[in-house]
Amino acid sequence: MLLSQEPLDRVLGDRTAKSFAKHLGLKTVADLLMHFPRRYSTRGELTPISELPIGETATVVADIVDVSERRMKGRAGSILEIRITDGHGFMSLTFFNQAWRQKELRVGARGLFAGKIGSYLGKLQLAHPDYELFPDEVADEDAKRWAQLPIPIYPAASTITTWAIQRAMAVVLDTLSPIEDELPAEVVRQHNLLSANDAIHKIHRPEIHDDWQRARETLKVHEAFLLQATLLKRRIENQHVRTTSRVAKSGGALAKFDAALPFELTKGQIEVGAQLQEDLEKTHPMNRLLQGEVGSGKTVVALRAMLAVADAGGQSALLAPTEVLAAQHFASMRKVLGDSLADEIGLTLLTGQLNTADHKRALLQLVSGKAQVVVGTHALIANRVEFFDLGLIVIDEQHRFGVEQREALRQKGKQPPHVLTMTATPIPRTLAVTVFGDLDVSTLSELPKGRQPIASHIVQLNQPALVARAWQRIAEEVGNGKQAFVVCPRIDEDDPGVELIESGGAAQEDQTFLDGTDEAAAEFAKKPRQPLASAIGMTESLKNVPALSGLAIGTLHGRMSSEEKAEVMGKFQNREIDVLVSTTVIEVGVDVPNATVMVILDADRFGVSQLHQLRGRVGRGTDPGLCLMLTTAEEGSIALERLSAVAKTTDGFELSEIDLELRREGDVLGESQSGGRSSLKLVRVVQDAKLIQQLRIDAEKLFEVDPTLEKHPLLAQTLELQDQVRQTYLTKV
Ligand code: ADP
Ligand code: MG
Repeated sequence: MLLSQEPLDRVLGDRTAKSFAKHLGLKTVADLLMHFPRRYSTRGELTPISELPIGETATVVADIVDVSERRMKGRAGSILEIRITDGHGFMSLTFFNQAWRQKELRVGARGLFAGKIGSYLGKLQLAHPDYELFPDEVADEDAKRWAQLPIPIYPAASTITTWAIQRAMAVVLDTLSPIEDELPAEVVRQHNLLSANDAIHKIHRPEIHDDWQRARETLKVHEAFLLQATLLKRRIENQHVRTTSRVAKSGGALAKFDAALPFELTKGQIEVGAQLQEDLEKTHPMNRLLQGEVGSGKTVVALRAMLAVADAGGQSALLAPTEVLAAQHFASMRKVLGDSLADEIGLTLLTGQLNTADHKRALLQLVSGKAQVVVGTHALIANRVEFFDLGLIVIDEQHRFGVEQREALRQKGKQPPHVLTMTATPIPRTLAVTVFGDLDVSTLSELPKGRQPIASHIVQLNQPALVARAWQRIAEEVGNGKQAFVVCPRIDEDDPGVELIESGGAAQEDQTFLDGTDEAAAEFAKKPRQPLASAIGMTESLKNVPALSGLAIGTLHGRMSSEEKAEVMGKFQNREIDVLVSTTVIEVGVDVPNATVMVILDADRFGVSQLHQLRGRVGRGTDPGLCLMLTTAEEGSIALERLSAVAKTTDGFELSEIDLELRREGDVLGESQSGGRSSLKLVRVVQDAKLIQQLRIDAEKLFEVDPTLEKHPLLAQTLELQDQVRQTYLTKV
């Protein structure tokens, strides 16, 4: 569907176009045509004047009984007042400075009047109503038909009403040249669709309700098909991008690492490992998503791939979402590699917090190629960071990085590097196809042998005995030489409770994308309740809990400097701290196998995926883990439902499905996930899962017979155009 990219000012005039751009973000004819109604109402839902509800929008059929124009008191301008009646009640319509309307609004005329019902000096009135007059000799039939015409209601802005949009749409539609169908005829037939042209006209100007319903269905298929085609096209194009093949040589770093590994790789780790080696040996870049349950050992798999690249003379960069995680990856890699192997491959850490000398040294190591494996944060993306020969990028916990950041790092290779993205938040199949259809996906479903189960329980705050028992459990674990986490939703009393994540802007959005914390927040906002627990406040309170007296209690949160955080994490790792009170800084990847119990305060403030990630911090050693979720959420609330889901299962895939269901639709495709503004308008990934999968198959069939889209030039053009729109958007970010 190639819609005109003509700027709106040429069609609507300067002023209207400017305000449409400013308030609705609509700049071209295509933008406007793709601004679909939110819903449709009917004029047929008519209300007698005597029963009009003040403050609501209503429509009446009435006759004009009086017309008068008067000057406004004390200032320039006039008011046109029209009295109307439906035979029982009376009301007035007012127009400011629109005396010209007297020409059509004459005594005796009959029509429909719609608008928001107000009252002025105790009398009902409609200010600047929308109206449509009947022809003088209107047949009852016509009046009825007109009254039942669906009226599109558009997403509007405070300064641009849905009617203004409707009028602009009419101007555009009246002069529009026919829209050609870009969909393969086969798909149109199979899904029994309207033509693209009919669909665009009927979604905006339906005559009966069935019109817009079919139009929506049709346009939905267009949207889903185009998305799948885009993803498949990217995938096919990627096959043609050339890069260096990286073949691990025998007796190299990888071989040494494998020989010294203190544990046995799981079956999954071996399989995925082989898959990665195969990818790396190819001459087109790998673009793979590795998903695996928290603790399933993704890092080892990634490290082995990085060692293979090192053996082949290339460099690898592991991008971690936070300073804490980067430092921890660095430390644990050094440990698992052993000092000599770590030195041999020049294992290097690069974060924004290094002092100048260390930073400079790290940069030199990278540009000279001495550092074959580097671990870092978004500092790796900075302009002055140069690699000698970047062969592989590993992105840990993908949801914290936007498409743009990924792209920036990719640009640093002489040739496009291989990319491995890891996530512990499993992506439901439905969503994976929708958003990550251009990636290959590997899954680690099995946990390493001996990994202990995590038991999760909800503790309601109105059960003081159970709360006391929670602290008691911590004391018992510490008594057995173990450690504990206490997680709070905010840092201190001044913190509204949304922690800033160090990796920057995109993280915030992605956070809501995955967690549904928005919804939690909305529900929370409804009623006043006890203040949220804070990490700093809780540290103090815990010192006064008798059961915990004598324990070493530490604090960790995102407002501490990296040195402070590293110091605290170091102490926790060395067991100098028994109980670590923290915010969600510890959410991803933190690996302290000796920690066995976690208490989460105000657990209802966290999303399903987030809770699952959090509790994955315990039970990583040889002892079972325990997660206690404290909450004030009431029986029957969504919040409690969410917590029960988390308590019931530790299957991340199941939870991610539940999360999707509980989460508001619109948040599903975060901007950074879908790659730009042109994200989905009509398709809903959950409800439309079947449709999406069907269209995936349809798109695959098409590319099979016509991989370059030679025989479908209009489709090729449409995809091209979509990409351009996305590109301009990305460069503006
Ligand atoms: P995640 O998938 O959550 O990133 P990690 O890679 O951090 O998991 O692994 C968690 C812990 O399990 C680490 O301490 C790691 O050394 C250990 N581990 C990884 N693979 C195995 C294995 N096959 N057997 C035993 N322990 C393993
Ligand atoms: Mg990890």
